[in-house]
Amino acid sequence: MNWDGIAYHSLNYHLRKKFNEKVFKISLDGGFTCPNRDGSISDNGCIFCSGRGSGDFIPAADLSLFEQFMKGKELLEKKWPAGKYIAYFQAFTNTYAPVDILRKKYEEALSFPGVVGLAIATRPDCLEHDVLDLLDEINKKTYLWVELGLQTIHEKTASLIHRGYSLSCFNEAVYNLNERKIESVVHLILGLPGENKEDMLSSVKYISMQPVQGVKLHLLHILKNTPLYQMYLKNPFKVLEKDEYIDLIIDCLELLPPDMVIHRLTGDGSKDLLIAPLWSKNKKAVLNGIHKRLKERNTWQGKFYRNHI
Ligand code: SF4
Repeated sequence: MNWDGIAYHSLNYHLRKKFNEKVFKISLDGGFTCPNRDGSISDNGCIFCSGRGSGDFIPAADLSLFEQFMKGKELLEKKWPAGKYIAYFQAFTNTYAPVDILRKKYEEALSFPGVVGLAIATRPDCLEHDVLDLLDEINKKTYLWVELGLQTIHEKTASLIHRGYSLSCFNEAVYNLNERKIESVVHLILGLPGENKEDMLSSVKYISMQPVQGVKLHLLHILKNTPLYQMYLKNPFKVLEKDEYIDLIIDCLELLPPDMVIHRLTGDGSKDLLIAPLWSKNKKAVLNGIHKRLKERNTWQGKFYRNHI
């Protein structure tokens, strides 16, 4: 199997096929919060979450949505003057507000120059029926995907990381999105404390059998000023080594269906905040290592998918 010379079904490949040109995501901070941070579920958030709710890369999040978008666009245009864009609501929980506010923000982002779709990152427990109806409406008029931060299928780990919802809640959200033909993209973290290789691969196998269209595989990053960092200081646990991670990623790819879009194969933690693993600062080297190892192992996404379903 081969997707334009790469042994996995990358987001870049998927978007080029769909739009016949290069399409980039521009990350936005819509000014939302998160029920796992505002006291509704907890005040502290998931233990790995930085104070910016995964929005550490968004330039100047205090600007208006339009200003944030234009900053991102200007940066991309230096290298790719003729691209199109997916407006990506990335920071915190982007369906956690009354529907009229959500509608206004989503529609505003869709009106920005060159935008051909929306990506909305959220939690499965923030997809009530009125929100789903709005997403259904948006999905009928543009390209949309919804990202769900599952991280692991194991309840013991979910409790340790203070995720704040159950696997059955995730299943229900996926069912509701799929019923409306809304694409979902699931985040998984590799290297969570207490999980071994079998645990991680069973999360991947589980996702491979769900009606989800994309996956983001993250390396666990220990960031400054997080509860995870405190845990690591008190009781240092083993973080993944680079070669170990590369082989693990390839084991994951082999289990995933060939048509599932791979949105990410590495973590993207802020370099200023990263405590460990430090080798992950060189993202290009990690990606090159994955591509090299895929060739050495003569393997590809989906190689063993049929063996386990
Ligand atoms: S759900 Fe997302 S934004 Fe909220 S605490 Fe967890 S990682 Fe942070």
